[in-house]
Amino acid sequence: MNKIKIMEASVRKWNRIIAGKSSDGGILDCPPCRIFYMAVCFGCPIAQYTGKKFCRGSPYGRWYWHQNNEHGHMRKKVYCPECLRLATEMRDFMIEIVEDLKSKKAQT
Ligand SMILES: [Zn+2]
Repeated sequence: MNKIKIMEASVRKWNRIIAGKSSDGGILDCPPCRIFYMAVCFGCPIAQYTGKKFCRGSPYGRWYWHQNNEHGHMRKKVYCPECLRLATEMRDFMIEIVEDLKSKKAQT
């Protein structure tokens, strides 16, 4: 499987959320989670990048808790300017990982 393609799918997911066209279903619709989560979060490119499992060390926690504390809806999507900022932060982090994987691939 191609980790760059998986992470690019993740960038597209966050772009749809930023555009207000989609919501975040967490592990249910996270492209790397669907492949790597398996209840243990093993081998995910995000975990390899941060060195931590379950998206710790990524901006996801800030998005997640803002959604829970400020909005509390089942559907995690853009409701306010802070949501937009946090979703953009997450999208940019996914791009950072894509770039990192590409540079590592170029080296080998
Ligand atoms: Zn918000």
